Amino acid sequence: MQPKNEPTFRQSVDMMFNRAVAKMDLPPGLEEKIRVCNATYTVRFGVRLRGGIQTFVGYRSVHSEHMEPVKGGIRYATEVNQDEVEALAALMTYKCALVEAPFGGSKGGLCIDPRQYEEHELELITRRFAYELAKRDLIHPSQNVPAPDMGTGEREMAWIADQYARMNTTDINARACVTGKPLNAGGISGRVEATGRGVQYALREFFRDPKGLEKAGLTGKLDGKRVIIQGLGNVGYHAAKFLSEEDGCKITGIIERDGALVNEAGLNVENVREWIIANGGVTGYPDATHHAEGAAVLGAACDILIPAALEGVINLGNAADIQAPLIIEAANGPITAGADEILREKGVVIIPDMYANAGGVTVSYFEWVKNLSHIRFGRMQRRQEEARHQLVIDELERLDRYLGDAWSMTPEFKTKYLRGADELELVRSGLDDTMRVAYQSMRDVWHEREDVDDLRTAAYLVSITKVAASYRAKGL
Ligand code: GLU
Repeated sequence: MQPKNEPTFRQSVDMMFNRAVAKMDLPPGLEEKIRVCNATYTVRFGVRLRGGIQTFVGYRSVHSEHMEPVKGGIRYATEVNQDEVEALAALMTYKCALVEAPFGGSKGGLCIDPRQYEEHELELITRRFAYELAKRDLIHPSQNVPAPDMGTGEREMAWIADQYARMNTTDINARACVTGKPLNAGGISGRVEATGRGVQYALREFFRDPKGLEKAGLTGKLDGKRVIIQGLGNVGYHAAKFLSEEDGCKITGIIERDGALVNEAGLNVENVREWIIANGGVTGYPDATHHAEGAAVLGAACDILIPAALEGVINLGNAADIQAPLIIEAANGPITAGADEILREKGVVIIPDMYANAGGVTVSYFEWVKNLSHIRFGRMQRRQEEARHQLVIDELERLDRYLGDAWSMTPEFKTKYLRGADELELVRSGLDDTMRVAYQSMRDVWHEREDVDDLRTAAYLVSITKVAASYRAKGL
């Protein structure tokens, strides 16, 4: 793991922030106000389990309230600590500003290994944690809206939503207290895949930027590019699946907890995923070479490296070994500040976390809006679209009669055209649009400012400018 002589995750984020603000002209004091975490709440609570009482430690950190509610996931992992949730909360602030999701930044975590507990035990623990947070408005539709993160998913979000609703029986907006819920509990289509989808859209947009490609020393299209991915969890799995199935990328390496799989001809992501679910790891997977020392594969030759697991995996200890010309940070903080500097000097292009993995919070935003509007996402638009299409069909039918045999409208065309976009299509196109616009805002700074030579600094500049503008507009 990370060498001891490196700064903490929190310090690493602050160092990257400082590098960017040094290139800005912020009013005195505002820089400090934006950088610091407003508050971090620590809770220790007991749950009666297996004939005894077990105590759990959890956190919810609020980084910036320049916009409310504040937003960010809840992580379940044994390594969760205050420094980590604060770093992650800060990244949420910058991420939301960059993609214009109207939220401040927050993050939560519970020190727990969820694999050690039965489902009913996890429900008890989650409900108790949710109770402790909701009691202090750290879960609230207009104040603080959690979401899934490592170790949590739809199931936990449904428990949290239900716990909040029980505590606030008269709150008509109760469902908007958390996002990432299952569809039948007020969720939105496409949220589970959203972060991976966002990584795909981010790469597609990067490949539409000739200057960016040139800086990375890459040519051509995504098709045929060799990709190594670290972590086949929700984010990594979806990113690898979409890139291989829809964009023609070859997944030449998959790094997991128990080692790495390598196959230059390309791995079948679906098969590897099934193998991991059935066997608890990649060991023994037939169609690949297995490397027991998984992390070493981070340095293998490829076109695109996608760290999609933990923070700090590319650090002072291995940054010099990286061969990939392009890294896209699907995880939060996978590259330490020190490694970032080494990679920059080597000319490696890094598509930074606050942009690359913003697909999750973007679709969370759609879910939150859906919950507050109390109508299926896009239902109104769909009706309008269908009505408009009906007018066009009527005209075409007139033309059809007039033209006789020269042209005729097929029934397939009619049914296809008449149907308005459904929720999933709207979510995907909204996400695609968000990822394109956000990339373009960073890209312009990256290519146009002579004192900016990397996308991360460009991303910080764009997002800090937006955060500063909201502070200025509302006053401190
Ligand atoms: N945990 C995710 C993240 O790090 C999603 C946050 C959200 O949807 O609010 O961005």
